[in-house]
Amino acid sequence: MTGSAGAGPTSDAPSALRLRSLSVSFPLGHRRRLVAVEDVSVELAKGESLGLVGESGCGKTTVARCIAGLQRPVAGEVSIDGVVVDSNRSRAERRDVQLIFQDPFSSLNPRMSIGVMLTELLTSHDLAHGVRAEERCRELLSLVGLPSDALTRYPGAFSGGQRQRIAIARALAVEPRVIVADEPVSALDVSVQATILELFADLRDRLGISLVMISHNLAAVRHVCDRVAVMYLGKLVEVGVTSEVFSDPRHPYTRTLLNAVPHVRRDPPKHRIRLDGEPPSPLSRPTGCSFHPRCPRAEARCTLEEPELLRVAGLREREAACHFRDESMAAMFPNTFTEPRRIDES
Ligand code: SF4
Repeated sequence: MTGSAGAGPTSDAPSALRLRSLSVSFPLGHRRRLVAVEDVSVELAKGESLGLVGESGCGKTTVARCIAGLQRPVAGEVSIDGVVVDSNRSRAERRDVQLIFQDPFSSLNPRMSIGVMLTELLTSHDLAHGVRAEERCRELLSLVGLPSDALTRYPGAFSGGQRQRIAIARALAVEPRVIVADEPVSALDVSVQATILELFADLRDRLGISLVMISHNLAAVRHVCDRVAVMYLGKLVEVGVTSEVFSDPRHPYTRTLLNAVPHVRRDPPKHRIRLDGEPPSPLSRPTGCSFHPRCPRAEARCTLEEPELLRVAGLREREAACHFRDESMAAMFPNTFTEPRRIDES
């Protein structure tokens, strides 16, 4: 993560995905720029999954677009398997990163049967032709848990969960190294969310594909992601192993996000920390720590000094951008928090 690889992969092999000091801004005229993403550094090993969480407008989707080559950063770089790629990618480089969207129906051509859609992808990328392409289409459907007779059917004949499986099969067809899934289960019924999340976890384990999952749903992130990165106003504010961040958050923003998760359970938190108001505009960032106007822990120092994303003392693979990151939040805000469960435990 920023400044170190402490929360990233530990082997000597090149990271499947590496973002280094990524910044994105948009011109607004009169020499003003809107800074959407600032100095984001993340590494992901082969077969590892990272959840990117935060409120709407915090920069998650802009980061995803940079990873997929759809957005050119103004600074920093994206590497896939140790090779720096820019937004002007070759066809082979574009194959390496595949996006999966929230609404599977809008991303599938309703007039194209599943077989034709997959075959066209395989042949256009010169991955399989003729009988081999037919076999590969059946393999892909089997990988995502659909019967081979789905090949002759059209997107409109499938349920929302099945369409998301088709979208995943389409992403897998071009043999990507990284999949970026933007809110992949938020348009689905709760009853099918867990099955799609299980599919992501299974594919990550079986095929060694690295996964970046953008989600508002912390239970979904808990279900699939090895590590989690929390963003606020375009910056990373906490990064670490998902189970550890969720059980012992060290940034007050992470704490308030976790505290806002609704619980249907016997032991709900006794008090809730409210996250008041909207995030400030990126055009008028607060001085010091940009979270200070909403932070229940803020002190005078926070209005003046911007905290860096730094290692938390005594915690393995954890970084947080808070002056008080070394203090346990359980002591700071007692009885305010219950760790979110996985989707299938709720
Ligand atoms: Fe809150 Fe201060 Fe930490 Fe910022 S630095 S998150 S304002 S306690």
